[in-house]
Amino acid sequence: AKPVINAAVLGSGLMGAGITWLFSYRQIKVRLKDVDWKVLLKGTQAIKKIYKQMIKRRSLTKSQASMRYTKTVSTTTDYSGFNHSDLIIEAIVEDLNVKKAVFKDIEKHVRKNCILATNTSSLSIAEMSKGLRYPERFIGIHFFSPANRMPLVEIIPSPTCSPDVISRAISIVKKMKKTPVIVKECPGFLVNRILIPYVVEAVRCVEEGAKITKIDQLAEQFGMPLGPLSLCDEVGLDVRYKVATVLE
Ligand code: NAD
Repeated sequence: AKPVINAAVLGSGLMGAGITWLFSYRQIKVRLKDVDWKVLLKGTQAIKKIYKQMIKRRSLTKSQASMRYTKTVSTTTDYSGFNHSDLIIEAIVEDLNVKKAVFKDIEKHVRKNCILATNTSSLSIAEMSKGLRYPERFIGIHFFSPANRMPLVEIIPSPTCSPDVISRAISIVKKMKKTPVIVKECPGFLVNRILIPYVVEAVRCVEEGAKITKIDQLAEQFGMPLGPLSLCDEVGLDVRYKVATVLE
């Protein structure tokens, strides 16, 4: 597949920052966009924090980390530079109408062969691709949190997605040393379809009077890396609630 040389990420929140770091670490130029400089600063601080952890663990030297960051990451509050992008990954608020409007807008600023990808956890890829000028370049590339550590990435082609776009998506995920799984679109895709009923059950236990700490402790004793309720906190209760509502 044709390699991705220039990438762009929309949204510098929890996921956007993690995905931007992944590009940067693999030495792919990445342009990070958010609505204002204050939020962008938070995003860049999160990216630098991951590099700092690597320096601490001695997986990179200080100068290697600094070189990777400065050579690859740039920030913007508009679409400047997006016309050079081969791939754009959107990681903004989980709202179908907002995402659709943003993708329509992006189409005016990018080349015809630029892949448009969404990191949505729960929204319909087919629905999101409707109304685009070139829906064949639209795809879901769903990373998990924390994006720098979680190995699995779901790839969800839109119904009209071209085979070339699918293979390029697989290839970039492999370049990030992640494991891509191709998933046919359905509510929750693969992981959340299995995970959310388990999390919802934990919430039901809380409703029935069980202690949050006890539930998490038992799940961890059972072998889960993190209790279901701590996991909700990490992901964000708002995000979890939205995904659960979509599944319902
Ligand atoms: P977040 O709230 O941490 O970050 C969203 C960012 O998008 C904010 O910084 C916001 O300012 C920015 N934003 C909003 N509108 C924008 C626009 N028009 N242009 C540019 N930036 C804009 O959210 P998050 O947790 O990173 O989630 C982002 C997406 O990733 C959602 O679709 C979510 O479902 C998905 N996701 C989240 C997780 C998770 O664990 N939180 C995991 C996988 C996927």
